[in-house]
Amino acid sequence: MLLGPPGAGKGTQARKLSESFVVPDISTGDIFRNAVTQRTPMGMAAKRFIDRGELVPDDVTILIVEERLAQPDAAAGFILDGFPRTVHQATAFDAMLAAMDKTLDAVIEISVPRELLIQRLTQRATCTNCQASYHLTDAPPKTAGVCDRCGGTLVHRDDDSAKMVLHRLEVHDAQTAPLVSYYKGAGLLRTVDGTQPIDAVFSAIVAAAAPQGGRAA
Ligand code: AMP
Repeated sequence: MLLGPPGAGKGTQARKLSESFVVPDISTGDIFRNAVTQRTPMGMAAKRFIDRGELVPDDVTILIVEERLAQPDAAAGFILDGFPRTVHQATAFDAMLAAMDKTLDAVIEISVPRELLIQRLTQRATCTNCQASYHLTDAPPKTAGVCDRCGGTLVHRDDDSAKMVLHRLEVHDAQTAPLVSYYKGAGLLRTVDGTQPIDAVFSAIVAAAAPQGGRAA
């Protein structure tokens, strides 16, 4: 499970971990954005919250995660990116894990100072197809507007506007930050420095997620 505010690099690291460990990357943000694009009833309901930088209500979010975890590709493990985001979601997730007879290996908090988060988000371009993200000045795509990974179209997400970013960070502080002590209390929390280059953050996550006293997989 990857924890951290918007812009910490959870999506980038979740994609790398998913490729490396051959388990699905389950991002509730991606699931909601796909549902919005496909104009499903759930997507239309979620859009009202996403557009305002608010969290989608817990009952909807918990249900989509429950459905996603029941898919066969998640049977051998998964990376969670962007879920849980409230203590209520975390307790519901504990119950899901117990019902599936599974345990969490680790909760990785990616720590990045506020000014850097704001800078990253307001300069972020996201692929509408595979959700890969680029930093327009520090890590731009090879061809402007085109995803290096899949050739998809890059956009600046509406919720990455300067005003919305500040609100999303406030929502994070109020509703999601308490999860740090929740998982610290459970003895699962590891914190990595998210200001390092992408590959260094990845190595730190792999090392932190390795069983205590053991070696990284
Ligand atoms: P993200 O791509 O993770 O930044 O998510 C984008 C938006 O989707 C968030 O600002 C929320 O509106 C919504 N969202 C994603 N994950 C959750 C979640 N676990 N709980 C509630 N809303 C979520």
